[in-house]
Amino acid sequence: MKFLWAALCFLAALTVSCSEAQAQTTVPAAAPVKQFDKELVRVRVLTHNKRVQVAGQALRFQILSQPYRPVAIPDSGSAEVRVMKKDGKNIWALRLNNRDNEHLFKEKYLMIQGENLRVGAQSLPSRVLLSAGPGDQVDVVGVLPLDEYIAGVLASEMPLNWPLETLKAQAVAARSYALAVMAEREDKPFHLESSVLDQVFRHVADGDESDPKLKKALQAVRETAGVKLYAQNRSILKAYYHADCGGHTTLAKNVWSGGVNSGVAVDNSCPTNPKANWSIQISRKQLAKKLRVADVLGLTLERMNQDSRVRGVRVAVQAGDDKIIGANEFRQALGFSELRSALFDLKQEGDMFTFTGRGFGHGVGLCQWGSRALGLKGQKYAQILKHYYPAASLARN
Ligand SMILES: [Zn+2]
Repeated sequence: MKFLWAALCFLAALTVSCSEAQAQTTVPAAAPVKQFDKELVRVRVLTHNKRVQVAGQALRFQILSQPYRPVAIPDSGSAEVRVMKKDGKNIWALRLNNRDNEHLFKEKYLMIQGENLRVGAQSLPSRVLLSAGPGDQVDVVGVLPLDEYIAGVLASEMPLNWPLETLKAQAVAARSYALAVMAEREDKPFHLESSVLDQVFRHVADGDESDPKLKKALQAVRETAGVKLYAQNRSILKAYYHADCGGHTTLAKNVWSGGVNSGVAVDNSCPTNPKANWSIQISRKQLAKKLRVADVLGLTLERMNQDSRVRGVRVAVQAGDDKIIGANEFRQALGFSELRSALFDLKQEGDMFTFTGRGFGHGVGLCQWGSRALGLKGQKYAQILKHYYPAASLARN
């Protein structure tokens, strides 16, 4: 054992003190990890600056280049990890249980496993990967099985008192989206963001299973295990979804100028959304600030053919000089939850612009409010998915 620790100290080369480690007689055997396990989802749950304080029980640490060797000490209840950079390489400094010594590892990633892992009040999956982002950024990446991740998405993306078949349709869409994105970002430190940039995710802690609503989410995931949507070219569909289509859905290419055609749907049930119609006001000065231009003299909306969604906004920044901003970019600049969709009209009165619209989200793929209405009418999840992805097919494997 002494030899092993001596070897580890030598390998780590930068370890400040191995005395604590040498004093230990037992080392918990952490499960071996491959460089990246293809079966597991990597989702960025947090980003910290420089250092992150991880708490939990029975913390274990691993460096991925030495997969069979745990690198630190058992019985750790908390660890402060900070990252330094030297000659383009990461050095992870690990301080356990507020002790004085730091253990240093020159590694690209640091893996932490443990029970009830958390950062502050936020619960984390039982395995996280620390990855150094740009500057002093430390990304905390949850590493977990696909369906455990889908349950966490379901608990965040949809009210769990909605019909079970609606939750099942959402589970299949979220699973298909995740798998398509995982294939695209296979070599990145993380596949998915835990926000609206991908799918909203919060880790569902083990104890939560006693919660009847959460039990329903887990049931929806279990009863659709292995079910996915496929595009016409037989690849897994990057199944987009949104809150409220405002009456009809649109194609991915109309929003992001790319993407697979999964078909469109007409939807009469979205007005069940209590916030189906909305209106926001913004001053000329605020608008210029958000669009990062000196001034806004006027706005003209450009719409798509056969679709009443706004495709782009022509911004008159000064006489004779217009700037055209795509609708999605324009929504992003004003805030996706402010300018809630691209289905809007515009009125300018003096220095005040009023946007009046309906729906919420990009309008591609499944409409969550519409799928709720279909679930309440007794439709099965396969019917709901067929309605919103008419050009896709469904298979279980
Ligand atoms: Zn809808």
